[in-house]
This record gives sequence, C-alpha cells and structure tokens, in this order.
Amino acid sequence: MSFFDYRDGVLCAEGVALPVIADAVGTPVHVYSAGALRHAANAFMSALRGLPSARFAFAVKANPNGAVLRLLAECGYGADIVSGGELRRALDAGIAPADVVFSGVGKTDQELIDALEAGIGQFNLELEEEGRVLAQLARRRGMRAPAVLRVNPDVDGGTHAKITTGRRTSKFGVDIAGASDMYDRLAQLDGLDLQGVALHIGSQISDLEPLEAAYRRIGALVLDLRARGHPITRVDLGGGLGIAYRPEDVMPSLAAYAAMVARVTRDWNVSLTFEPGRIITGLAGVLLTRVIWVKPGLSHPFVIVDAAMNDLARPALYDAYHRFAAVRPDGTTMVANIAGPVCETGDMFGTDRTIDHVARGDLAVFHATGAYGAAMASSYNSRPISPQVMVDGDRFELVGDRTLPFDTPAPLGCKPRTAGSVFDAELTQAA
Ligand code: PLP
Repeated sequence: MSFFDYRDGVLCAEGVALPVIADAVGTPVHVYSAGALRHAANAFMSALRGLPSARFAFAVKANPNGAVLRLLAECGYGADIVSGGELRRALDAGIAPADVVFSGVGKTDQELIDALEAGIGQFNLELEEEGRVLAQLARRRGMRAPAVLRVNPDVDGGTHAKITTGRRTSKFGVDIAGASDMYDRLAQLDGLDLQGVALHIGSQISDLEPLEAAYRRIGALVLDLRARGHPITRVDLGGGLGIAYRPEDVMPSLAAYAAMVARVTRDWNVSLTFEPGRIITGLAGVLLTRVIWVKPGLSHPFVIVDAAMNDLARPALYDAYHRFAAVRPDGTTMVANIAGPVCETGDMFGTDRTIDHVARGDLAVFHATGAYGAAMASSYNSRPISPQVMVDGDRFELVGDRTLPFDTPAPLGCKPRTAGSVFDAELTQAA
C-alpha cells in the first residue's frame, strides 16, 4: 500500500500533489503521510497485540517531530527516549510519563532527575554505576525508580557496522556474562525497582535469525535471574526491524516476526516492551527537493539537488540507499550521480544510478526518509534546517518550520521560500 503515488503523471502524497507543497513551503522539505504513519503503527501493533501485555514505545530518535509523536500517541504508542530533549518532546506530544522508556548510554544526572521527577515508566540501565546514581537520586526524592538492565547479548545484528549495537565490543548494554551478578547487586538498592532486562542489537535488521538468537540468550538469562530469586516481570526487546529501501529488498514480515517472538518468549511470563522506530515512520516520509544543476561529469552528469547531507545524512553516514524519483517523470531515464550542494565530497546520494530523467528546476524526491531523516538534520554550511509538512488526505500542514540555529539575527532563507526564490523565473525561462 503506497501513500506516495502518481496521479495524472504527478507524484502525490495521499491527495496532495507535491508541487503544491513545494510552491507553498519551498524546497527541500520533508513530507510525511499521516495515513502511512497510521498504517504502519497499526500494522505493527496488531501483529504483536496477541502477546501477553505487550507495550509499544516508539523510538523517538527515528522521528521526533511533534505532529508525528502526537499521531503515534493517538495510535497507542509510548516513547523510547535517549535524551532530555526527547523526554520534553514526548511529554509535549501528550505521551503519558508512565509510557516513557529512557534508553541511552550516557544519561546525565540532570536527565535522570528530570525523568524521575516526570515519573517515567522505565529506565534502561546501561552500567552498574548508573543504577547506583539513579537509586541515590530516587531515594533522596522518596522514590523507587522503575528500571531494567540493558544486556548486551553479543549477537551481531548483521546490519551496517555503524548501526549494530549487540556485539560485545559495542558501547551498549552490559556484558551478558556478568549480567546476573550485576543484577544481584543492583536489586539490593533501595531506590531501584528492578523489574527485568532489555536488549537492542541494532537497526535495519533484515533477518530474524540474529534477533531470535539474541532473544534466546535473554530468555536463558531470565531463567537464571528467576533461579536467583528475582521476580522478573519485564523484558524490553528493543527495536531494529528493517524496511525495504530498494524495490528488491525483502524484509521479514510482521507476521513472521510476531510468530518468532511468540515462540521464543512463550514461557517467559513477562510483559514485553517493543521499541520500534524505522519500521513505523521510515516509509511514511519523502524528502522533496529541486534540481539546481545538471553538471557534466567525467562519465556521468552530476544531478545537484537543493537537499544535502544536512537534510538526509544516511547516505553520507552509512552509504545508505534512498530511491530517487522525479515528481513529474517524462518516461525516460538517465545515468547520473546525485549530489547535494554541501562542500563535502561525501555529500552524495548515489553514484552511477539509473534515475528518472531530470533537468534544472525539476522537482524530485528521495523515498523512505521518514526515519533518521529530519531527525539527523544539521545546519552544516549554515544551511537552514528544512521544514516538515504533514499530509492527511487532501490537506497538508507545516509541522516543522525552516530554521537556522546559532545566533544569526535574521537568517536569510529562513522564511518559507517560493519556487521563485530558488530560481529566478526570468533566468530559468531564458536558459
Ligand atoms: N531502541 C534502542 C535502544 C535503539 O538504540 C534504537 C535505535 O537504534 C531503537 C530502539 C530503534 O531502532 P529501529 O529504528 O531500528 O527500530
């Protein structure tokens, strides 16, 4: 089911033609589909709802836009956060504190205090000392902090090295080998209400095998902890399921994932938490951009668009692939390198790609940018952070304004741009 499709030769987000958004807001702009968000959110939940007392905490890092979080809250999602900023965004979006899980390997004391005072539902401890500090902070406030211990199961998620988190050498979680002894010690602390364990082995995982292997290791740990007398009531299975960025990508179905989870956790007798990010918002967004130049290159031309690595960092960070498509394709193709305007050789979206034929001034999109897209934006090269638009049916709304951080008093280009401010109409016609 696609919420971004062509109507009369023009790419639309639901019922809105993308040129209408480009005219109203300027480019580059991140465009989200409310229908696609609801569809993915409901599909994930209904696949797993059959499991005993499953809880769903959207990984805010994937897309922290307030309108996205509000929509997901309406669908029944809590929030998995990794910073004080994400806590504020989750609470502002109306997510109940009790539905907030605090992951993150480096929570500051102030972040722990703010989360405690907000009354969040679960702290995912990353090291023993964090547990001790949290217990002390909670005790001083007459509280017991609800917590689980994040364990590193030493399983390679089989994904890109920079987004694999479950190997022993990574900074995340505590070594599973010493986890039971650490749990014994932490469980004795007055200020902690230690309820179980958590794991997360990476992102964009395309194979259920490593997830199953990691879950089985956690299952064995749960048995060991119970044998030591700990009443384990919660296991947080993290996020990580991948999405199809390329047409040929094959991802495990939600039904297959749910069946695997049901099989592996059958005897655990715990409440399960899921922290999905990418699978909820990834396919629900596109980055709408305009071609500035088609510059001749050695073997292929460079299609230079007005979006850059500061709008979509994934290709530069992880060599990630995002499908590029013209908004008004003419039916022909070209082989090109797609580049942004930032002064970095790495500001490339693809090389030697066969793409829709585009020319100066044309609109195009990068598909599947709803997760880790705007979320990773920067203002490098003093480029404004791009606006964000939410489409719902045949209406759209600006849900994130164009801004330029730092202290520029009246940043040029920070007002909504019309197409005319990107291209001088007379010059374009003369060209
Ligand atoms: N939970 C934790 C602890 C994470 O670090 C991440 C992202 O890496 C997620 C959940 C969400 O992962 P994904 O977007 O792959 O579902």
